[in-house]
Amino acid sequence: MKSLFLIVALLLGCLLAAPANANDLIAERAIRADVTETLTIDDIVAGAATDFKPAEIIRFRGSPQWIRLRVRAPAEGSKVVLFIRPTYLNDVRLYQADPSAPNGWTTRMTGSDYPYGERDRRRISLGFVINVSAPEETVYFRIESRHRTILNIEALTPLEAEQKDFDRDLLFVFFVTTMTTLLLWAIHSYFLDRQKVFALFALHQLVYTLFGISVTGYVAPLLPPQLSGQTDTIGGVVYILIGLTMTLFCRELFKPYSPPRAIRWGFWALIALFSLNCTAFLAGYKAPATLSNTIATKLMLIYFVIASFHLRTEGTPRRVVIQVMFASILINNMAFWIPTYLDLNVTVFKWSGIQVLFVDGFLIACLFAVMAYVRARAVRREAVEAAQALAIINRNLQQEIERKDQAQTEARTDFLTGLFNRRHFFELAQRELDRSIRYRQPFTLLMIDIDHFKQINDTWGHSFGDEVLRTVAWILRDTLRSVDIFGRTGGEEFAAVIVESSEADAVEIAHRVRAAVEANPLTAPDGTTIQVTVSIGITHLRGRMVGFDRVMNEADQAMYAAKKTGRNRIMVNA
Ligand code: GH3
Ligand code: MG
Ligand code: MG
Repeated sequence: MKSLFLIVALLLGCLLAAPANANDLIAERAIRADVTETLTIDDIVAGAATDFKPAEIIRFRGSPQWIRLRVRAPAEGSKVVLFIRPTYLNDVRLYQADPSAPNGWTTRMTGSDYPYGERDRRRISLGFVINVSAPEETVYFRIESRHRTILNIEALTPLEAEQKDFDRDLLFVFFVTTMTTLLLWAIHSYFLDRQKVFALFALHQLVYTLFGISVTGYVAPLLPPQLSGQTDTIGGVVYILIGLTMTLFCRELFKPYSPPRAIRWGFWALIALFSLNCTAFLAGYKAPATLSNTIATKLMLIYFVIASFHLRTEGTPRRVVIQVMFASILINNMAFWIPTYLDLNVTVFKWSGIQVLFVDGFLIACLFAVMAYVRARAVRREAVEAAQALAIINRNLQQEIERKDQAQTEARTDFLTGLFNRRHFFELAQRELDRSIRYRQPFTLLMIDIDHFKQINDTWGHSFGDEVLRTVAWILRDTLRSVDIFGRTGGEEFAAVIVESSEADAVEIAHRVRAAVEANPLTAPDGTTIQVTVSIGITHLRGRMVGFDRVMNEADQAMYAAKKTGRNRIMVNA
């Protein structure tokens, strides 16, 4: 909203910088085309000419135009500035009767083909300073231009002319600085978040600024004379490119609002039309290409309004904002052009083409910038929100996975010793047994039972008993290999599967376990040193096809045999 106020304020500024024309010094204007390009000043003075209005579209179809102007003497003095618009007329000659000159006429020159130094009045705005003797003076212009344009020649006092030059320069500075600022902003924004809408806005901005600079004539006088013809071509191409870049930008802008298929095709039609105009212009068909481009530009502006009313989904900025903005661009454009074309006598619209161009360009730039900015901000916000939502989902998922892992580990682990519990050990051992049978590999099961554990429990308490269990578990972890499978299968019973080892090796491992337990006495709460021992029953499969229960049974029997024969020993099931 704030930006809208700013735009309105700046537009008002433009209005104030363009005061109405003062034409009361001109008594009569007449025009005559020099179709054969053979007329002399004497022919013109003798011949007939037609009247024309202060701001009339003059069709310079390659042939020079002769203008007759009757200028009244100003009340405060004889000096008058003949102020000519536009500034991109290529060659303008002024003829004024002068009895002292050899042929009775003085001739002076100005125009965009001449560098400042060679012009009669060294200004961007074309013009001549003449002396007018009361009551009035008749002067003749011979004008050549490669453009079709709205021609206006005013008679002003030198002070008024100065003021006009100043206003013009001011407007130009305002135009260039604001347009360039917006261009830089668009480039900066594009590099910040790579949104296509900014790149296309920057492109449009660049083209429009170049057009403004080339068409106002501030650059041409500074170029070497041989390039001045080229500046017309460049200006013409850039003029056509405005429509093209504008269409590209609007196409991108409208995309998220899902315009119907027909509307989307319309954009392609405009792009094709502008490209065709550009090609035709470069191929040398300058006049038809320029005319076609003027029509295409008007069609484009109307089309944007129509398209904005056919957008199917809501977006950012809101559809209604888009509609208002494009309608104001169209109204602004028409408000200047319609009165000129229809020749309505509305003073405020009697602006020069340049001023219209500035206001138009500036208005479009501001509205486009607002739209691009609002859009980009929304996209950025959506991206941030999406990233945050994703982060939350990720975090929840991670927690869920961790919870599951934790639950699974808990379900498999014996709470006291941290070894596999009975169920999980059996699962793994069963699997390992199946595998060894299939691949005919050795399989050894150890059943390990702590000797006289009940006694330990009864004498030093349950918690010391727990400590004994944890110690034995620690010794198992330390002695067995990481490939072996072992767990706590009962109160003070442990079991281990020794994989891929011969019977002798398995027995050797069992001996190590037994010896390690024996070699690690514990200190009871009362300070007594407790010698813990284990009895181990071993069963070894040598390719036998038996079930796990049977294997367990055998190992159990071996273990009981070890108990019976004095404990702290190993017994192999024979
Ligand atoms: P043997 O040498 O014949 O194996 O004698 P034992 O005393 O070790 O055998 P028994 O099976 O009679 O005793 C096992 C005892 O283990 C009984 C029970 O109180 C104890 N026990 C079982 N689970 C736990 C436990 O989680 N913690 C503790 N501290 N004791 C347990
Ligand atoms: Mg037991
Ligand atoms: Mg026991």
